[in-house]
Amino acid sequence: MKSLAFLFAALFIGLLLLELGGCQPLSQTPPDPLQPYYPAFHREALPPDFDFARTPRYELQLVIRPKDRLVQGVQRVHFRNLSGRALRDIYVRQYPNLPQLGGLMKLTWVKRMPEGYAVGFAPDLKNSAARITLINELPPDQDLDLEMGFEILAPQKTGYVLFGESQGILSLPYAYPMLARQTGEKDEPWRLEIPPVFADIAITDLAFYSVTVTLPPDYTLITSGMEMTHTLTSDGWAVHRFISGPIREWAMVTSSKLQKISETVDGNQINTYHLPRDAAAGQSAMAYAAAVMRVYDRIFAPYPYTALDVTEAPTRYLGMEYPKLNFIGMDTYRKAVESQEFLIAHELSHQWWYAWVGSDPYRYPWLDEGLAEHSSLLYMETIYGPQVAERIRTQRWLIPVRWAKQHGYDIPVGQEATAFSSSNYETMVYAKSALFFDALYQAMGRETYLQVLQTFIDRYRFKTPRPEDFLAVVEEISGLDPTPFYEKWILSAGEAP
Ligand SMILES: [Zn+2]
Repeated sequence: MKSLAFLFAALFIGLLLLELGGCQPLSQTPPDPLQPYYPAFHREALPPDFDFARTPRYELQLVIRPKDRLVQGVQRVHFRNLSGRALRDIYVRQYPNLPQLGGLMKLTWVKRMPEGYAVGFAPDLKNSAARITLINELPPDQDLDLEMGFEILAPQKTGYVLFGESQGILSLPYAYPMLARQTGEKDEPWRLEIPPVFADIAITDLAFYSVTVTLPPDYTLITSGMEMTHTLTSDGWAVHRFISGPIREWAMVTSSKLQKISETVDGNQINTYHLPRDAAAGQSAMAYAAAVMRVYDRIFAPYPYTALDVTEAPTRYLGMEYPKLNFIGMDTYRKAVESQEFLIAHELSHQWWYAWVGSDPYRYPWLDEGLAEHSSLLYMETIYGPQVAERIRTQRWLIPVRWAKQHGYDIPVGQEATAFSSSNYETMVYAKSALFFDALYQAMGRETYLQVLQTFIDRYRFKTPRPEDFLAVVEEISGLDPTPFYEKWILSAGEAP
């Protein structure tokens, strides 16, 4: 305990120094505020109108004790009030408290900076958020810095484990108080939905992160950021310092067992991680990740970050995407190895459809999942030819959608996540929406379809488009009216296929 007290003292002094270190030398050109983050992303990936001042910034100081599944942290978050009115209530999400994640998270203190006075806070939204109430309102377009302490206990579980410890792997997405997404609207300035158990969780704003993690030295740490330094404290703890590119959430995985393979592809570093018993499937995961990256770099646009991590995860035969970091289910390293390639193609495509071109997982879950599914077909067709693509179309999408229709599970896909159930979410949001993109693909042909996707990326990179934005790009680039396709596959039930 003594060593931890020392560590926390060091962390606070570090934060203090960060505050004091604001002196800039005089020079002709103003310093580029993005400079510290460039190691983690390619500056060409930003849109020309990117506004750094409106983008939140996090500084996280974390101590992870993997054996206790405990995370203790201090977070400073800087953001601008985009609501157009004065704000008194600020929301941060405590997603680990969601029943589907099964953790315990609590804020321990909150201060308004740089004044440093304490601010009140209370649990809200079934404890999936904390409402922080300012004493003095934050005027519109003004910036605010909040500092807060927090603790998280991650669960130990078996089966599908997205968050917590299983088989020596501690998965820690959502492990900090995430600022709720701002809507830019006066009436409801914050997005405060509670995600259903079967849907994606985080509704966040793009942000930059500077993260320091202290943990035992024999633990590998995989994150959404780029490691800048790695040192040891005098009492033997490892201190890793990361910075991120513009990312939509910060995620981490740690383990003393995972083994790493690295390869450079198109100038970016790909790292894959696997458990020792899964060495052969770990090699194939790297081969597939490299192949997928090469294809997407060419048919979509070059990958925006400078590194990509793919890790074996206790998520059964499923995967999960985070910025730069992808979970690939353990079952695809063992009993379902034939599905590993498609799963990697699906998850990695989310770096384009979710991380780069953002998506709203609550209002339009089909938009990025349908694109991810169909991107996997594009990859498989590129590598193996049209017969394999046809098999995916039929077996993975058409047959399940027909089955859903025959059994009363078919509903319009263009609805928010709560309209679905555990019984039809995957078939509708993944398979049926993939058939929408596939119908467009077949109608306009590969070359035009890829031009549509490239334009969609160019126009909406690091933004969060809506379905109508995609439809407008389809019409503009292909000359095809997407309405009949959209009505048949996305807005109707019982019509298709
Ligand atoms: Zn997906």
